[in-house]
Amino acid sequence: MYRTNTCGELRLADAGKVVTLAGWVQKNRRMGGMTFVDVRDRYGITQVVFNNDTDADLCEAASRLGREYVVQITGTVAERQSKNPNLPTGDIEIIARELKVLNRSEVPPFKIEDDTDGGDDLRMKYRYLDLRRSCVRRNLELRHRMAFEIRRYLDSLGFLEVETPVLIKSTPEGARDFVVPSRMNPGQFYALPQSPQTFKQLLMVSGFDRYFQIVKCFRDEDLRADRQPEFTQIDCEMSFVEQEDVLQVFEGLVKHIFKYVKDIDFTEPFPRMTWADAMKYYGSDKPDTRFGMRFVELKDLTVGKGFSVMDDAPYVGAICAPGCANYTRKQLDQLTEFVKRPQVGAKGMMWVKLEEDGSIKSSVGKFYTDDELRAWAERCEAKKGDLILILAGETMKTRKQLNELRLEMGSRLGLRDPQKFSCLWVVDFPLFEWDDETQRYYAMHHPFTSPNPDDIDKLETATGEVRATAYDMVVNGNELGGGSIRIHDSELQNKMFHLLGLSDEDAQYKFGFLMNAFKYGAPPHGGLAFGFDRFVSILAGLDSIRDTIAFPKNNSGRDVMIDAPSEIEQEQLDELSIALALKKEE
Ligand code: ASP
Repeated sequence: MYRTNTCGELRLADAGKVVTLAGWVQKNRRMGGMTFVDVRDRYGITQVVFNNDTDADLCEAASRLGREYVVQITGTVAERQSKNPNLPTGDIEIIARELKVLNRSEVPPFKIEDDTDGGDDLRMKYRYLDLRRSCVRRNLELRHRMAFEIRRYLDSLGFLEVETPVLIKSTPEGARDFVVPSRMNPGQFYALPQSPQTFKQLLMVSGFDRYFQIVKCFRDEDLRADRQPEFTQIDCEMSFVEQEDVLQVFEGLVKHIFKYVKDIDFTEPFPRMTWADAMKYYGSDKPDTRFGMRFVELKDLTVGKGFSVMDDAPYVGAICAPGCANYTRKQLDQLTEFVKRPQVGAKGMMWVKLEEDGSIKSSVGKFYTDDELRAWAERCEAKKGDLILILAGETMKTRKQLNELRLEMGSRLGLRDPQKFSCLWVVDFPLFEWDDETQRYYAMHHPFTSPNPDDIDKLETATGEVRATAYDMVVNGNELGGGSIRIHDSELQNKMFHLLGLSDEDAQYKFGFLMNAFKYGAPPHGGLAFGFDRFVSILAGLDSIRDTIAFPKNNSGRDVMIDAPSEIEQEQLDELSIALALKKEE
């Protein structure tokens, strides 16, 4: 036996026991006639003492141990003189009588401690060492517990976990596919699934009326902030359901997991907000509702006073930042710089201050009387001491810019507490999204999403106005998941493909299998998928999903530890009948 106990296990009640521990040397130090060694494993840290008076050789050997050496130590559990209340094992130490070095270690490139000196790149290159740090390990432990509990919960509701293939046909769902060449079928390619979407729908045709899967999905997207090319979904589908059934079941799951992990009871139903309202009041389809500062529209109050910025803008929107009238010139300049950054893209920002003494000041004071400015303030429900920030411009663009400004103000005012959770459903998404560049409609969710039955007659006449039976779960400004009721009628599905610009042949080539299946009695069905990495990161209070993944990719989609992607041998290319035509790097 390598060990009798773990390094996180022993307590005062164990005093007097002879034990053997195995683990890594966190640190060692010599003090007077003793050497102290902290031994670490997955479960914790235990202090071991070597006494020069009892065994000088052993004590000497202990002081020569290097960081991260793997050791096995036998000794007696004893009460500690100076206890460490910060360690669960802090009341005891092991008086060592045997020490065996199981393996040596080079000096690690960074400190294996929560507060490490290793930068991101270094930690990713040596991710196996990074994973020894308890703050990282704890995230993976949480991930495991959540996955386990999600399975248990869904199983209790009769959901079956069914695996779907990873090598599939390229049927883009919105992002670019990763493709895999087939050696046995030269010139042909598999694709990695962006999600199991079509397979779970086929499972509904097969009668598996409650399906789920905790599953890897792959999307070859330009990596925007906090995306991974491979990520994990809790993917679900149900038959004989309407939107309300799906929302009920999965609101139940989310509440259950919040209770299980955080002991938080959400006693009220999650609020629902239409997509149109989310855009109108928050400028985002994933509003952070931990705080107010909803948008107020001022177009009618600002127009016709000879100020062209307002007059020319189809939209004028404001937020009211409570207690910020004391913002200095410099702070206001910073906010203006913030909205003018290319990521936000506004041309400028206007402001109105309701001073504590009752006076009113504004960056646009020369165009408007105090009474006019007071009318704006009234509409914003601003009080003395508040600051109103205003953007003007094209409606959707300006709303998005105002969303960025609102989030920035929320952060500055400490209103985005990661330990506070605000969940809601956003519903009634548009079915289509118009793309100016390609001059065509795209499916906002995916092409299998059912139109709202009340809007079906608008499909051809007012395509852009058709609402989808689609919904997103939003937590603290993050899209936790989303789904829809599906089309289960092959004719309607065909029509949808047409509206999306697919010819009959294209639709048949890409989705023939699905439309065929729908000819054999497809039940009404719908479902959703949660981003599992995101779910873990929200509950762990992390900014990034990367820390919830054992071996993540960096921002350029690389695994810097194994150095992937990488070139392959000419022989492998030949076998795959692939010739490269690489563009010269600029
Ligand atoms: N397959 C969808 C997605 O990955 C989720 C769903 O509609 O169930 O976003």
